[in-house]
Amino acid sequence: QKFVYDFEEGNRDLKDLLGGKGANLAEMTNLGLPVPPGFTITTDACRAYLESGEIPCGDEISAHLAALENTMGRRLGDAADPLLVSVRSGAKFSMPGMMETVLNVGLTDASVAGLAAQAGGDERFAWDSYRRLIQMFGKTVCGVPGEEFDHALEDAKHRAGTRDDVGLAAEHLKMLVDDYKGIFREHTGRDFPQDPREQLDLAIGAVFGSWNADRAVLYRRQERIPADLGTAVNVVAMVFGNLGADSGTGVAFTRDPATGERGVYGDYLANAQGEDVVAGIRNTMPLQDLEGRDKASYDELMTIMTKLEEHYKDLCDIEFTIERGKLWMLQTRVGKRTAAAAFVIATHLVDEGVIDLDEATQRVTGAQLAQLMFPTFDLADEPEQLTRGVGASPGAAVGKAVFDAQHAVAMAKEGEQVILVRRETNPDDLPGMIAAQGILTSRGGKTSHAAVVARGMGKTCVCGADQLDVNLHKGQFTVDGHVVSEGDVISIDGTTGRVYLGEVPVQPSPVVQYFEGKLDPHSDALVSAVHRILTHADERRRLRVRTNADTADDAARARRFGAQGIGLCRTEHMFLGERRGLVERLILARTAEQRDAALAELLPLQRDDFTGLFREMAGLPVTVRLIDPPLHEFLPPLEDLAVKVAVAEERGEDPGHDKDLLDAVRRMHEENPMLGLRGVRLGLVIPGLFAMQVRAIVEAAASVEDARPEIMVPLVGAVQELETIRAEAEKIIKEFAVDVKIGTMIEVPRAALTAGDIAQAADFFSFGTNDLTQMGWGFSRDDVEGAFFWRYLELGIFGVSPFESIDRDGVGRLVRIAVEEGRAARPELHFGVCGEHGGDPDSVHFFHEVGLDYVSCSPFRVPVARLEAGRAAI
Ligand code: ADP
Ligand code: MG
Ligand code: MG
Repeated sequence: QKFVYDFEEGNRDLKDLLGGKGANLAEMTNLGLPVPPGFTITTDACRAYLESGEIPCGDEISAHLAALENTMGRRLGDAADPLLVSVRSGAKFSMPGMMETVLNVGLTDASVAGLAAQAGGDERFAWDSYRRLIQMFGKTVCGVPGEEFDHALEDAKHRAGTRDDVGLAAEHLKMLVDDYKGIFREHTGRDFPQDPREQLDLAIGAVFGSWNADRAVLYRRQERIPADLGTAVNVVAMVFGNLGADSGTGVAFTRDPATGERGVYGDYLANAQGEDVVAGIRNTMPLQDLEGRDKASYDELMTIMTKLEEHYKDLCDIEFTIERGKLWMLQTRVGKRTAAAAFVIATHLVDEGVIDLDEATQRVTGAQLAQLMFPTFDLADEPEQLTRGVGASPGAAVGKAVFDAQHAVAMAKEGEQVILVRRETNPDDLPGMIAAQGILTSRGGKTSHAAVVARGMGKTCVCGADQLDVNLHKGQFTVDGHVVSEGDVISIDGTTGRVYLGEVPVQPSPVVQYFEGKLDPHSDALVSAVHRILTHADERRRLRVRTNADTADDAARARRFGAQGIGLCRTEHMFLGERRGLVERLILARTAEQRDAALAELLPLQRDDFTGLFREMAGLPVTVRLIDPPLHEFLPPLEDLAVKVAVAEERGEDPGHDKDLLDAVRRMHEENPMLGLRGVRLGLVIPGLFAMQVRAIVEAAASVEDARPEIMVPLVGAVQELETIRAEAEKIIKEFAVDVKIGTMIEVPRAALTAGDIAQAADFFSFGTNDLTQMGWGFSRDDVEGAFFWRYLELGIFGVSPFESIDRDGVGRLVRIAVEEGRAARPELHFGVCGEHGGDPDSVHFFHEVGLDYVSCSPFRVPVARLEAGRAAI
């Protein structure tokens, strides 16, 4: 088995094996771009290492190292003329800042002088590189606490009388190296390794091991990245951005990753190495300014960026280093971007003739569209602006300022909304970032850790608000004379970068305003991109998209959002409010007359409800579900009644009605109401109840032009149940000249398994995947998520709650069986889904695959489902 690949041997399609970084380094090498030579140790080797604790390919590494030494004309760590390398993690999916990289491997007490000689006698540079190695190696390979090094560095700066690490001279750095070695010895019980090859092997093992670091595990869970992929390791010949003013390091995007606008975007830092840019240690300069400093390198970089975009046909992000005027490419990949940028870039690429609309539609997701439908701030009342930073990840977030990730987690658990405020974030802040509504930092640009991670999570982020003076110890920040302490409410706008004091009200986003018909489709780049892509998805999709709506208002809004009917109108809310009294009379009725009288009063009320819905959805189907929940849900709680009755009796009063209600509640009590007297069972047991609803539906339909009612019977498990209700309903329907379809929900596993029989009595099936999941797994939906799902997710029993995204293998199989057997028994049978899953992107793809006719979801999910249905069909 081959475990090691030179960059010449790989290509971008080998991400599984070489990781994203390695595959793209190989791709750039083979494109003829200036990449320092190196090799990649595969993810296979990582998995072997994680199992055995040993690197499985020592000899192969030796062979590739020897080849690298030949190419470079230097030997690793050679005292006179050392080759140095970086040891870089790189998994299949990018996990920014999650895993480790060690630079300058090969430096020792002996080779540090050789490095200085290489650099034309630049001692300062050599010692700076050495102290960086001990720091990175100590921290990431040997687990020495990073603060120890940070403190020593602060002390050194203090001694040298400088505030900036550039102000440290060679002799300061030399002393710092001694301090660092002391720290290293103290924490590891050994001296800093002086054998270059041992350094290399330890670093490789550490990078492999970092796959299972807590923060990496957490990040993968959050991003739904499988836990067993492993990371590759890239060993790359070092190039140096810290060789003086004509050197430097930078990151760049071929388009703006926040807005998608054309034009390069990036940050550059002169005389710096590696992570200095991303960490926000010093303030960077905009990439454009590089043109004035080093035009030749700048021009070459622009040419390369154009070439990369042409090659990858997408936005690329890049890491580069300039060593004494020579440009080196250190990384590229198809770059992360905000939801807005994804839409804008996709349509720009169409206009540039790079991709077609099908491809553009595949480049965006329903989850991104959902993000664009988040509200934005309403600034009409001119809220007090504290400062402005860089809008790094869009959204409008309001919450209490918190300065510590653990506090953020604790407060979020208490149900508080918080904004995590930091100088800059690092991977240890991840749990706090997840818990917060938004993130605010005082340092770093659009490429900082905070920005990159927040964009990935779709979380609002403002970074680089450099007027903020953040004092973590005191738990406060000051800006412009204002002091904001932990617990004070602030509002941050991740689009504009503005930070406000207090709670700013929010308003519908431009995309929602467009859906509402209040914005012209071509009003701006984003709205126009959404419009074009959704229009295309609509042309492509086979699935129709309906909405779940119980009121005329919801129906009207969903129709503006593109709904093609109602897939689920729940009728239970029609029994609430002032109608409770009628329902109580129905339940307490002692005679048929009393019952019929109560039903007769409910009838016109229900009819009006339906009339409104049918009007809003004229010409489109409206599926009305007959009443589903157990009737005792409409009665007051047992305890309340018991107290009322007891108090009345105590006072010697007649509890009257309350006593009757209490008796009814006691009589109707069920241990497992979700498996009790509900759904079709109510229709079979309570005379006239379903008949009243059917009559209300039919009368309403007869009074509205072009009404298309469909009656849906819930909780059917046997065809006989449906036949009985159907016969009763048909009698009523016959009295009117309206066409009404009658179908059933498939939500009891038995219904799915006897779908062929049930089809005989149904015009349509609508999968109630909430109950089907509940009964299929035996999970009480209202209890399990909080109780033990965390453990299931931790163990990987499922990667996402089956109530959120359909369980394809189990519950999905029930759906598949019901579609196949239902359709075989009755080819004209119509299929839809009305559970929460109807608006979940992955589930929509599944419903497309199994051949449903439509999905139905909440009004706000309708555009998401339209887009995903289109993507599923392409
Ligand atoms: P990450 O995945 O966290 O970005 P990288 O492996 O890309 O980590 O490396 C961290 C930093 O070190 C980056 O800025 C990268 O450009 C820089 N770097 C990595 N290898 C080299 C090298 N051989 N020479 C110079 N800089 C390097
Ligand atoms: Mg990188
Ligand atoms: Mg149900």
